[in-house]
Amino acid sequence: MSASTKNIPSPDLLKSIVALCKRRGFIYPGSEIYGGFANTYSFGPYGVELKKNVKDLWWKHFVHLREDMVGLDGPILLHPKAWKASGHLESFNDAMIDCKECKARFRADHLLSEALQRDVDHLTPEEMSALVQEEKVACPKCGAHHFTEARFFNLMFSTQMSKTGNEIAYLRPETAQAIFLDFKNVIDTMRVKPPFGIAQIGKAFRNEITPGNFIFRVIEFEQMEIEYFLRPEQWEKSFEEWLSAMWGWCRLIGLRKERLSEQEHPKEKLSHYSKRTVDLVYDFPFGTSELYGLAYRTDFDLTQHAQHSGQPLHYANPETKEHLVPHVIEPTFGVERTLLALLCDAYEEETLESGEKRTVLHLDPKIAPVKVALFPLMKKEPLVNEARSLLPHLQRLGLVEYDESGAIGKRYRRQDELGTPFCVTVDFETLEQGTVTLRDRDSMQQIRLPKEQLVAHLLEKLR
Ligand code: ATP
Repeated sequence: MSASTKNIPSPDLLKSIVALCKRRGFIYPGSEIYGGFANTYSFGPYGVELKKNVKDLWWKHFVHLREDMVGLDGPILLHPKAWKASGHLESFNDAMIDCKECKARFRADHLLSEALQRDVDHLTPEEMSALVQEEKVACPKCGAHHFTEARFFNLMFSTQMSKTGNEIAYLRPETAQAIFLDFKNVIDTMRVKPPFGIAQIGKAFRNEITPGNFIFRVIEFEQMEIEYFLRPEQWEKSFEEWLSAMWGWCRLIGLRKERLSEQEHPKEKLSHYSKRTVDLVYDFPFGTSELYGLAYRTDFDLTQHAQHSGQPLHYANPETKEHLVPHVIEPTFGVERTLLALLCDAYEEETLESGEKRTVLHLDPKIAPVKVALFPLMKKEPLVNEARSLLPHLQRLGLVEYDESGAIGKRYRRQDELGTPFCVTVDFETLEQGTVTLRDRDSMQQIRLPKEQLVAHLLEKLR
């Protein structure tokens, strides 16, 4: 399947999502009281729930439910030699170019590919500079044709280590390397044998030249990564299996299939460690762009770290005595990009039959931040007391929001914007007959249910 543009939502969708995220406590701009700190974000009370639900589900799906996986939580700061061995010091670069008139900074490959409508990211900075001149590329900000030379810029953030005498350390730009550094520990302490995988969820940092598009490209983000170790002859089959597992994950979290496609990296565009890479791309409001990646990293990383550390990194088969340096398939999933794609798919502004407008997030109940909202019809006894008595039972399902303030319609609208799949209302019939009203977010239909059946009924729906 190739990338398509037919399902790209309107650019206005991004604006609406940014506004909703701020208004409803999902995502705030970073350091706002100091005037903001570009391309950093805080995940507010609902954002952190959504993020946590995605990460927990990923862990359950790829670690707990598989016998061939173990987990790891490695450090963000790795020995500086690790980045030399991994090739990041030398090759983790993007070419940047500045407009001499308005001082705007661009990634040279992005500037050129937008101007020429073709891929150029296999070119050297010198070749890109020459092409900018030849094709008379104009600055998208001010229209001038006056650029600096394109030059490589390393994307790793560096920091000083006081204890080791001003030695520079790097904040990891990918979680993967922490896994390779602990490969020997895992082999020595666990009963694993190839094929097996090590999974990790954690922060990564990249000093991006042109961050932006809300949380799509940020300088600090989270990755959910797997390094899957296998015999070299198994890589092609395993690659296909992981590709289909990645599609399965997209289905599980409810991403729309028609906005997803695969993009194979051409040979000349492959990263220094990869023999094959396929991206799962998504039709974001700003264009079709990488959501997830799948790479065949060969034995590049283990071999490099073995050479640079002097430690053998292999699997010794106790029966055959064979020493195998496993090859690696790496499926990688960005947490922020997952959230953005989920929000793009879920967001809807509806006009109801009454003419009233409602904004709703159709999030899959499995990942919705609030599972159930609980309301007394009015802020009056004994309704409040009766509603509160249901709270501990419902809390078994996950986060429950109790709300007694304002008109019931307004309370429903607020929950629709949060993506809460179910609202439970306690009214006078509850007091007389023991039934509650259960409202479904998507259909807005309401049914009455004996309160004793509520938890079992919802457990089924939230599964
Ligand atoms: P891009 O081409 O968009 O820069 P990449 O190919 O460099 O991405 P990978 O190195 O494959 O990205 O990183 C693995 C995953 O981490 C990506 O698929 C994406 O989901 C996520 N990711 C990478 N860079 C960023 C970023 N700056 N902000 C948010 N998520 C990111």
